[in-house]
Amino acid sequence: MDYLFPPAPQPSIPVVGETQVFPVHRIFCVGRNYVAHAQEMGGEVDREAPWYFTKSAHAVCHSGTTIPYPPGTTNLHYEVELAVALGAAVFEGDLSTAQNAIYGYGCALDMTRRDRQQDGKDHRRPWDLGKDIENGAVLTPLTRAGDVGDLSGRRIQLLVNGALKQDAVLDDMVWSVPEIISHLSRYYHLQAGDLILTGTPAGVGPVVAGDHLTAQIDGLSALSLTLSSA
Ligand code: MN
Repeated sequence: MDYLFPPAPQPSIPVVGETQVFPVHRIFCVGRNYVAHAQEMGGEVDREAPWYFTKSAHAVCHSGTTIPYPPGTTNLHYEVELAVALGAAVFEGDLSTAQNAIYGYGCALDMTRRDRQQDGKDHRRPWDLGKDIENGAVLTPLTRAGDVGDLSGRRIQLLVNGALKQDAVLDDMVWSVPEIISHLSRYYHLQAGDLILTGTPAGVGPVVAGDHLTAQIDGLSALSLTLSSA
């Protein structure tokens, strides 16, 4: 291919115990998938169907890095989430097809300009400025699904400067991982490389320059992120 200029590098995520990396295609994010978080945001869970927003694959930021506080906000929030990585195509798939398409899991942060997201809600506009942030999809290395096993009973936690802010179990998710994949596959030809961030539990809040975030989901790689000092 004779490009006019060099194309952007392919975003990717490391895999635990592998030398090859996982190439990221698309990032889908589930809204309001924990009841207590929906309530803290002044909303309710929609039990009819899950719903989504997206982030660019180029928003991927590797755990362990230091990033600048992003422009255009004075209210940057963390949201810790289970990330699901697909290793096979799914279109109009049932629950078992969905389960079998999972390559692995990671711990993620859905970094959010909460003020810009609120603007979107107030004016009935899209959430892109609030959600599709450069470095706004923070991801740990993936652990292969076969090495993770059953997700039930696993804790998901986030700490800011060592203080516990979010603490839940994955069982608290309204829509299970196979339910989300199956539903999303009615709208997209899902394929290997697609990532799904499955929503955040209660306890979201702001961070400032100089803060250090850590997060953990039982059985997965631990996450860390530092916001550089102003
Ligand atoms: Mn989120």
